Amino acid sequence: MKITFLGTGTSQGIPIIGSKHPVCLSNNKKDKRLRVSVLVEWNGFTCVVDCGPDFRYQMLRSGCEKIDAIVFTHEHSDHVMGFDDIRPFYFRQGDIPIYAHQRVLDSLKQRFDYVFKTENRYPGAAAVTVNEIKNKPFSLGGLEVVPVNGTHGGLQVFGFRFKDFAYLTDMKRVEAVEIEKIKNVKILVVNTLRIEPHHSHFNLEEALAFIEKVNPEKAYLTHISHLLGFHDEVEKTLPENVFLAYDELELNL
Ligand SMILES: [Zn+2]
Repeated sequence: MKITFLGTGTSQGIPIIGSKHPVCLSNNKKDKRLRVSVLVEWNGFTCVVDCGPDFRYQMLRSGCEKIDAIVFTHEHSDHVMGFDDIRPFYFRQGDIPIYAHQRVLDSLKQRFDYVFKTENRYPGAAAVTVNEIKNKPFSLGGLEVVPVNGTHGGLQVFGFRFKDFAYLTDMKRVEAVEIEKIKNVKILVVNTLRIEPHHSHFNLEEALAFIEKVNPEKAYLTHISHLLGFHDEVEKTLPENVFLAYDELELNL
């Protein structure tokens, strides 16, 4: 299995437009973060998790030429607003399979109604095959994918376990029964917004406590705000098996 971090930044990305914050002005490539997304590949199957505003550039930058599934965590704009740019994949491959909670599917249908239309379709619009995710395992490319339920402020969010890899973003609370699903996983990715507490995201302290409960071999932090600090400085403060993810980082499992 190959994992490619397409983006590791919070909703505005880093740098933030017009910001003079030192992290936004950093020349370190690892301090430049597109909106959060990850590419997971196994046995020739290609799955992208979320489809945010930077999707087009992320596909170009990673050289991704084929998508077999798009899996959504939730419907916030930083996770869905690149959806129109699935068109090149649709033109080459036909209908693109998407997987999401029914509420997320409804939101996509509202915002991108032309993709879901069955009559009087605009000839250039993409089309998809729709798959509802419930909180139970589903099959993707011969692999059992396990949804992990959590909440993001008041909103339900799905994380996913792909065999030995678990990807959780935009989480604030995860029940013990859900944590059981990812216990002792080899690689855990989890959102870590900043140092200060936040109403809908783990801060650094909460993320580290969560990692201790899950007990993975290695953990990577994502959905990072400029307020977390410089990549190189924050990384020095982390436990031995915890790392900051950064854009274009690749992991093999
Ligand atoms: Zn987000």
